[in-house]
Amino acid sequence: MEKKNLDWSNLGFGYMKTDKRYVANYTNGAWGKGELIEDDMIVMSEDAGVLQYSQSVFEGLKAYTTKDGHIVTFRPDLNAQRMVDSAKRLEMPPYPVEDFIDGVRKVVAANAAWVPPYGTGATLYIRPYMFGINPVIGVKPADDYHFRIFVTPVGPYFKGGAKPIYVKVSDFDRAAPHGTGNIKAGLNYAMSLHAIVTAHEEGFAENIYLDPATRSKVEETGGANILFIDADDHLVVPKSDSILPSITRRSLVYVAEHYLGMTVDERPVYWKEVQEGNFKECGLCGTAAVISPIGKIYDHGKDIEFASGMEDIGPFMGKLRSTLTGIQDGEIEAPEGWIDHIM
Ligand SMILES: *Cc1c(COP(=O)(O)O)cnc(C)c1O
Repeated sequence: MEKKNLDWSNLGFGYMKTDKRYVANYTNGAWGKGELIEDDMIVMSEDAGVLQYSQSVFEGLKAYTTKDGHIVTFRPDLNAQRMVDSAKRLEMPPYPVEDFIDGVRKVVAANAAWVPPYGTGATLYIRPYMFGINPVIGVKPADDYHFRIFVTPVGPYFKGGAKPIYVKVSDFDRAAPHGTGNIKAGLNYAMSLHAIVTAHEEGFAENIYLDPATRSKVEETGGANILFIDADDHLVVPKSDSILPSITRRSLVYVAEHYLGMTVDERPVYWKEVQEGNFKECGLCGTAAVISPIGKIYDHGKDIEFASGMEDIGPFMGKLRSTLTGIQDGEIEAPEGWIDHIM
């Protein structure tokens, strides 16, 4: 198969129309059979449920070219299950896990020419999503839904890849207690946009959100979980019901314990601990960025600096990152069931 003629090593994180997408429709109370189509446009009612009341959930995962030239995805079963959980919370009919995994395989295989070659730093981003599509004007869940997966080749999420970023602690909230912070829904992102635009204007790469109820505990950023390394070299992972259960984070916890012999503490992390300098490294994690090290956090007029600094990723975050990307690239043996071999 001939690859598309793209400048793979210089791709940004943006959308590019690829050849095929996978779609399925839910009508008359049942999911229809999924299929690959070419049309990238969606025609719907001006009163579609998603346009009125934002009934929409999504996922994000990637396909990688391994060192020996195969195309694989990473733990798609966890994305499928998380989308089931997200759908249920928004009163949407879950898309079956098996069909989700099958859809991912089909759409990646159909767009194999768009999967960036090994060693370019680029990957194929896979975006499954579903939304209410029939007319809804009284407030209630839609009756009909559209499920779709498109793919687009992407470079690193943050320019500079593993270069430390400067972030701020936000005065806005991301997710209410007992709200929707633990599901992957577009609505959580809509309300984070003002905060992220403001942070960018002020020169920060991202926002760190605290728990809205007490503003004393670390939650996450708009689209990534947060990790710390403490003075005892433990990986410390904030725990809260309103944090999105990141698959990257769950995988890194496993990698820390089983590949790197580290101790992992999953517990509430107080902002005071961060302010007092109890952590020597900090990073964001998610599919898009894997790990982005945080060098400094702006906290109301003061900078909290991590020992790892603004030049390079720290030793622990570096090791975690290279081990996980090694597993994804097929350079390091993966735990059973983590890699879905597509072709
Ligand atoms: C998608 C997402 C993450 C990262 O999850 P991964 O499964 O690791 O990609 C973290 N936080 C939020 C709010 C997200 O939407």
